Amino acid sequence: MSRALQNAPSITWASTDILCDVLVIGGGPAGCWAALEAAGAKAKVVLVDKGYCGSSGATASAGTQIWYVPPDPAEREAAMASREAMGGYLSERSWMAPVLDKTFESVNRLAEWGYPFPRDEKGEQQRISVQGPEYMRLMRRRVKNAGVTILDHHPATELLMDGRTVVGATGLRRQEGGRWKALAGAVVLAAGGCAFMSKALGCDVLTGDGYLMGAEVGAELSGMEFSSAYAISPAFSSITKTALYRFAQFYRKDKSLIEGAGSARGRSVIARTLLSEPVYARLDLAGTDEVKAILRRAQPNFFVPFDRRGIDPFTEFFEVKLRLEGTVRGTGGLRLTGLDCATTVAGLFAAGDNATREPICGGFTGGGSHNAAWAIATGAFAGASAAAFAKGKNGAPDAPHPESPPPQRTGAATVNPQAIIRAVQDEVFPLDVNYFRTHTGLSAALERLDQLWENMSAASATDESQALQLRQAQAMTATARFMYHAALSRKETRGMHRRDDFPKQDPTQHHRLVLSGLGKIIIRTEQVDPGIAREAAE
Ligand SMILES: Cc1cc2nc3c(=O)[nH]c(=O)nc-3n(C[C@H](O)[C@H](O)[C@H](O)COP(=O)(O)OP(=O)(O)OC[C@H]3O[C@@H](n4cnc5c(N)ncnc54)[C@H](O)[C@@H]3O)c2cc1C
Repeated sequence: MSRALQNAPSITWASTDILCDVLVIGGGPAGCWAALEAAGAKAKVVLVDKGYCGSSGATASAGTQIWYVPPDPAEREAAMASREAMGGYLSERSWMAPVLDKTFESVNRLAEWGYPFPRDEKGEQQRISVQGPEYMRLMRRRVKNAGVTILDHHPATELLMDGRTVVGATGLRRQEGGRWKALAGAVVLAAGGCAFMSKALGCDVLTGDGYLMGAEVGAELSGMEFSSAYAISPAFSSITKTALYRFAQFYRKDKSLIEGAGSARGRSVIARTLLSEPVYARLDLAGTDEVKAILRRAQPNFFVPFDRRGIDPFTEFFEVKLRLEGTVRGTGGLRLTGLDCATTVAGLFAAGDNATREPICGGFTGGGSHNAAWAIATGAFAGASAAAFAKGKNGAPDAPHPESPPPQRTGAATVNPQAIIRAVQDEVFPLDVNYFRTHTGLSAALERLDQLWENMSAASATDESQALQLRQAQAMTATARFMYHAALSRKETRGMHRRDDFPKQDPTQHHRLVLSGLGKIIIRTEQVDPGIAREAAE
């Protein structure tokens, strides 16, 4: 376990002991689909969540479009081709096809379970999107009914190792106090991405914990340079649903139109303007009252903060900001070695935003359906593989309980986790560092982040209440360092990774960047199936 937690004087150890075949860490869609699939394979499954499975995480509080494409060859071909250029040709058809198949099958199961998909005028169900609260409430019910034990408010903090194999995890009991320890035949990491506590909708629990836990036991990461997702939000609210900004125009304070600004292709223009002055929006392209009523029905969440303040976003100007969503609507995460969603460490599987989405998105998502499909499909794949792995080992290992790897850090000093979090945010929020990237900006930020990591390695939590915060601060620092190490190495503009000093895509860098290590981060390149890039060049 990490020195930070080991040294905390008032933490009660092993208050809860758990033995199971499959431990799922995280109860968003990826974790729920993983738990369901593993339970369906007759594994004894325990799911732990930092918050409350069913209302925690990025999907639960929003609503998602889903990459739901019927198995018609032409439709599938169009679906696969649609994002390849935007993603910088780093995706692979050999992944997209099975993800589309699994998503189609799983969303149809949602319909069978009674999810109330809306119907079109012909009475056909429209299965291309779900409302987060209803979807995740249903998933929680299905997971419970499948016999999975759900432990809410039980964040995982470290993985447990036996030699080179992951055999469980340990974590904190936020409500009862003390800790839990779980021995498992296999572990699925589904703890979501990292939005650096930017207060983006549903994202403050997403602090990169899974990346840190994975990296600590030797798992590789990939695509961490594709982590500069920023969402438009009203300056006075954390609602980051961006779909409705398609109906917006953007203005300066003097109400002059900002030419070229837009929610999709013109987001850079908004970002560039924000570097020097405030930006305002108005949904003035919504047209008729009928369209406005449809938009209100489609995205009721969006309007809540406006209604509370008595602002009519269709007729009045409101100030907007760009709020960092990091890897949640970026693509980076733990590297998967194949369709079984295994990581490079035995016994450890990853799914959803915790895993890199490059195989289906390349270097760009920005939301809009692929992420939801990835969470569903990789969740199901990882759950099935973890159950099979555990079965191969005859379930959970026997006592004696193994301990996690020795900490890579030495010394002991007390730090203020809040101050660390603010320091990390100061490096990752600024648009002129993270959105418009340059060698100068990135390397200066990385130097400070490396120093922060150094200082923290000697840190200990003063008490139990601080332990989670400190762990989150460590995870955010580690994530920021992965991001900027990768961003410095990719000396080109590709996907969402935008280098102002290398504004073009460079064909010689058509590869993935794979990272490993924590104190010293090592980067190697990995070739991508050259097929799509060759086709694109022709
Ligand atoms: C506003 C918004 C709109 C979006 N719209 C779309 C869309 O339309 N289409 C689309 O495809 N994608 C969309 N996305 C992205 C999509 O929501 C995510 O890709 C998806 O939620 C990923 O699922 P997940 O299960 O991996 O992670 P999450 O849904 O984020 O769930 C992660 C879970 O892990 C838990 N957790 C975190 N740390 C720990 C820990 N240490 N121990 C235990 N549990 C932990 C969290 O509490 C949470 O329950 C949107 C995202 C946002 C923010």
